[in-house]
This record gives sequence, C-alpha cells and structure tokens, in this order.
Amino acid sequence: VATTDTSVFDKIESEVRMYCRTFPVVFERAKGALLHTDDGRAFIDFFCGAGSLNYGHNHDAVKGRVLDYLADDGLMHGLDLHTVAKRDFLTRFTEVVLQPRGLDFKVQFTGPTGTDAVEAALKLARRATGRTGLMAFTGAYHGMSRGALEVTGSRRARRAGAVAGGDVTFVPFEDGPLGPFDSIGLIERLWADPSSGTEVPAAVVVEAVQMEGGVYPASREWLRRLREVTERHGVLLILDEIQTGCGRTGAFFGFEDSGITPDVVTVSKSLSGYGLPLSLTLFRRELDLWQPGEHTGTFRGNQLAFVAATAACELWQQDGFLTGLRRGAERLARFRADAGALDPRLVLRGRGMVLGVDTALAGGAERAARVQRHAFEHGLIVERCGRHDEVLKVMPPLTIAPGLLDEGLGILLDALRAN
Ligand code: PMP
Repeated sequence: VATTDTSVFDKIESEVRMYCRTFPVVFERAKGALLHTDDGRAFIDFFCGAGSLNYGHNHDAVKGRVLDYLADDGLMHGLDLHTVAKRDFLTRFTEVVLQPRGLDFKVQFTGPTGTDAVEAALKLARRATGRTGLMAFTGAYHGMSRGALEVTGSRRARRAGAVAGGDVTFVPFEDGPLGPFDSIGLIERLWADPSSGTEVPAAVVVEAVQMEGGVYPASREWLRRLREVTERHGVLLILDEIQTGCGRTGAFFGFEDSGITPDVVTVSKSLSGYGLPLSLTLFRRELDLWQPGEHTGTFRGNQLAFVAATAACELWQQDGFLTGLRRGAERLARFRADAGALDPRLVLRGRGMVLGVDTALAGGAERAARVQRHAFEHGLIVERCGRHDEVLKVMPPLTIAPGLLDEGLGILLDALRAN
C-alpha cells in the first residue's frame, strides 16, 4: 500500500528549488474542494492554487470539454493561427464577461502566467503615454519578473530581482498594517507639485483587493477617487485582477461594484477554470499601438486552456451559480462574526469569497503558523499571506458545497480556539 512519503522531496531539495515546507504529504488527486493524498487522506482546499482554482478541482463541465477536445485531436498549439478553440473562447468571453459589463476592451493573449499579463500592461502603458514612470501601492504583488517586480512592494523580492528602483513611486494603499491612509490625497499633492520629485506616471497599477499583501479590500469610493484622479491627469489605470478576478470577490472582476472602467485589466489564474495556464491583458481600443513583433511569445494563448476557459465562462450562465456564490459569501461573513466573537483581537477582512484572518494583534505570524498547522492536521489546507505571513487567507472554491464549506470553517475556528 502506498503511503505518503515526502522523503524524495526532502532529498532533492538540495538540488531542486522546492517551495512547500508547510504540508508534509504528497497529493495525488483532487475533485471539487477536496485534495487527496497518495495514502488516501482527504483535505479541504481553502488555498485553491492561490486563486487558480475558483471553480474547484476537475470541474465536471470543464473536464468534459477538455477530454472531448483531446479525444478529437483538437489543435494543441496554434500560436497566431486562427483556431476554433480561440474563436470560441473569444466569443464566449466577450458575450459572458465583457459585454454585460459594458467593457469594450481589446483582448491580448499575453502568455501562460499572470506575470506575463502584467509585463504587457506595463509595456503598453509606457508605449501609449510616452512616459516611463509608474505608480504602485505598498503591499502590492504583481509578479516576479523584472518588469512586474518593479511594481511589487516586497523589499526582499525586489532585492532578489536586483531591481534598480526604476521610475516607480510606491504610495500606501487605502488600508494596510499601519492603518488607513489618504493615499489619493497624497497622489493629488505629488502630481500637482512640480517640486515633489515625482513625475506624472504612465500608469497606476492596483489590485481591487490586495491579496498577497494581506487581504486588504479597496473601498468602492477609494477606487472611484483613484479613477477620477488618474483620468484627470491622463494616467492609465491598470487593474490587476489576476487573483481578485473570476468571481473571487463575488463578481467577475473585483473592481466591478465600484462602477469604474479601468484602462487596462490583467486576468489569469482561474481564467481557464482548470488550472491550465492562460493570461490576458485587456485594454481600451485606443491604446492598441502594438506593431507586429513588439510583444510576442511562443506560448501565448494555450489551446487547451481556451477550451477549458470557454467552459468556465459558461458556468457563469448556469442556474444556481451566482446564488451559490452569494451563499458562500454569506457563510464567510458569518464566520467573520464567529471568529471575531472568539477572539476580538483578530482583524477580519474580505470581500465575497475571500477572507483574511489577521493575527497581527492576536499572536502574530507564529500563531498563524500554529493555526495553519492545526488546521492541516485536521484536514484543511489554508495558506498565509501578509507582510509577515500573519494573515490566514481563506479562499475556498466558489463552487464548494455548503456542507464542506461549513466543515472547513469549523476546522479553522477550532484551530483558532485551540491556538
Ligand atoms: N498579480 C497578482 C495580483 C497575483 O496575485 C499574482 C500571483 N500571485 C501575479 C500577479 C503573478 O501571477 P503569476 O504567479 O501567474 O505569474
């Protein structure tokens, strides 16, 4: 009988860069909200591949289409050729996601990863405005390549990437570990004052909820003010929806309920709905100044990911999908109250189907680690985020069955109680 044996990972750790030191098991299969190990144990997944599995693992509707496509010898690599998979995806994405939201964007296939979409967005912004400066927010996470790293806040990550500093200004987000801040007021001052040393930038890049930064949701009003000030100064507003997108906040896009229209939007992670790599950069038509050969790449627009993403878009049209999403969000809201009652020092933040349990004032990262460990030992996978990994990030599949959601939240509450 096979048992979970992680020794091979321990052994090769000296030769291969490994990441997972938190969960000492080997996973083999997954379905819906459950992960199964090779020794037959099951874990509820509140991590969802950092937001890449919003529709759960191996969703039947998506899987069926992927299997059919493979069985029919569907084209697996098409690059810039016109393909049926690409056509179907574009049609459905426009019909289900863009049109109902009044978003008249051009769609660019930017590559397999979210970072690729951010790279394209930043290049496009600089090219379209002729300016080089960028503005980003402290706590932001936009990727690890040198371009995306320019706008990622973490000092440690930036140092590792040898980012020279670039022409990037970081300002505090609306809220953060040091409390709320009038960043829009600061931006106004910086851009209006010729002696601020800060040029009006090509773009401001922002997440509607800072996810890796510690689950800090931007208020609707703050996003509206950010839209207003950027528009007034001719600065492009880039919404990085890589982790907030595809329903995580309760709507397809995290910015949606603020009523703003960004100039550029990046999407990836759950877009394919199946853990297949796909990223897009969406932008206002007037910004399309790309000339042939200026932004290319062999693995832009994976055909199988298109097939899966088309099926994932259709989930939004299914009866009960939105109701399920709303009920899940209500359940998380109830958990907020329960956890708050258990320990009033915990700070709970979230929107829709993401919740951050901030332990900064309630034991900090060490307690968060103990809670995470306890949850793991009782069958729940939950990750940590925030500046010091002090925030437990609760991110179940949007499609999780109410019973499993209750079970997972129950384990987490017990873990908080016991630690
Ligand atoms: N932007 C945001 C908001 C993200 O959360 C991430 C990934 N955590 C990225 C960009 C980068 O995406 P990828 O890891 O696919 O390159």
